[in-house]
Amino acid sequence: MSAKVRLYVEHPLGAGQSVPLERDQAHYLFGVMRLGIGAQVALFNGSDGEWLCEVAEAGKRGGLLTCVSQTKPLQMPPDHWLMFAPIKKARTDFIVEKAAEMGAARILPVQSDFTNSERIRQDRLQAHAVEAAEQCGGTFVPEVADLQKLSRLLDHWPEERQLMFCDEAEVGNALQWAAAAHATAPWAILIGPEGGFSDAERKRLHALPQSHVVSLGPRILRADTAAVAAMTLWQQALGDWG
Ligand code: SAH
Repeated sequence: MSAKVRLYVEHPLGAGQSVPLERDQAHYLFGVMRLGIGAQVALFNGSDGEWLCEVAEAGKRGGLLTCVSQTKPLQMPPDHWLMFAPIKKARTDFIVEKAAEMGAARILPVQSDFTNSERIRQDRLQAHAVEAAEQCGGTFVPEVADLQKLSRLLDHWPEERQLMFCDEAEVGNALQWAAAAHATAPWAILIGPEGGFSDAERKRLHALPQSHVVSLGPRILRADTAAVAAMTLWQQALGDWG
């Protein structure tokens, strides 16, 4: 693969396909990266894999790329979601970036009883997920959902989806969680906010039949660390690392 630049586009990709660029992409390719006609760029769109493309038109406000050949097939991540309670801006950005790199299929910010933030900038977080996918060589971009109440999500919890409930109250307890019986099921990981889970939430999460209570070792981790640790454990046991 000779293209130095990798971009996500919302446009079909296929042999001979022309792909128009948006203004900020044209600025990046031609203004910042100084690419000219004939230069090679790798494109992916989340559904057609990765394509080696060539610059056909280069302008200040736009441009056109032509698809030459497919360089990677689409690789979908395993069906696991990361649910987390948003914390401070930089740490929330970090969680979204890492979740996209680590292969989460969907990222769901949730408002729990002790969640610090009332709202999120969904568009900004989605842009972080796109950038992370561009950077890590993935061919898929996870959707970042809008902030929703954890209680409401649990009210409509999908019957087959298993839940890796990371509970700080289990600090130091070694728990068996990744039952082989659930290897092919869809999953979700749940990480709480700085304040942890409330007693009511803990009770409800323990009672959920799909819930697997997980301890992340003998120390209390910050939520951003916990998210990366939990995704590592999940990928190693049930995901696409094997
Ligand atoms: N304020 C809480 C800690 C919250 S840590 C307290 O002091 O008890 C933020 C989140 O990270 C937790 O809600 C949990 O989902 C996860 N987490 C951190 N350390 C953990 C551990 N050792 N085991 C399981 N989950 C952990």
